Amino acid sequence: MLERTNRVALDHVPLPFPGSAVKILVIEDEKKIASLIQKGLEAQGFVVDVAHHGDEGYALATAHAYDALVLDIMLPGRDGLSILRQLREQKRSVPVLLLTARSGLSERVEGLNLGADDYLAKPFYIEELTARLQAIVRRAAGRPQSLLEVGDLTVNLLTRETRRGDRKIELTSREFALLEYLARSPGRVFTRAQICEQVWRYDFDPGTNLVDVYIQRLRRKVDDDSPVKLIETLRGVGYRLKGGD
Ligand code: CA
Repeated sequence: MLERTNRVALDHVPLPFPGSAVKILVIEDEKKIASLIQKGLEAQGFVVDVAHHGDEGYALATAHAYDALVLDIMLPGRDGLSILRQLREQKRSVPVLLLTARSGLSERVEGLNLGADDYLAKPFYIEELTARLQAIVRRAAGRPQSLLEVGDLTVNLLTRETRRGDRKIELTSREFALLEYLARSPGRVFTRAQICEQVWRYDFDPGTNLVDVYIQRLRRKVDDDSPVKLIETLRGVGYRLKGGD
């Protein structure tokens, strides 16, 4: 059951990043612990989603952009390590803090090898969880961004791989550069001149339809097979990628 908490701004509590709520997904089947974590994080100004089942947690983690995950290992459905493995296989770099059993040395080691950012053994103090979570979120924020996500579109800047959901999209290097440029600022409109200067590195010639031709090609590859069209034309202004929430 998804529990979306109220997005109440806690004026008296400084947010880790001014002006933007940090979104955390907690995947923990023990409801008392999950609720304790949720309350503790909300008191720090985090926006918290909770999943009590591994499959539900995995679905949320892949459908939304969270700033970090608190991930229990023993879960009904997919266990925590499987969730972590699958996320990393998809090149999703969301920071993950694992909750482990006090005696779980091997699972801790496996978790770190799979790409967990930190772990905390149960039982723990909520203050420690909050502090560690803030640390990994800050660290991740300083990391160069390697994955751009807009809806179900992912653009991996390291592997140069582009996908919509599970569908892999083959792009030429110029098409990739254009999509990357738009995907870096979803929701923002770019004029043809801006696109031309950024993607082609030369001054815009108003007589050319180069940008429009490339946008058409991108549309065919990115949007044609999907019910949701991401590339938008703003008549007389330019283009943008939908999104930006
Ligand atoms: Ca558990």
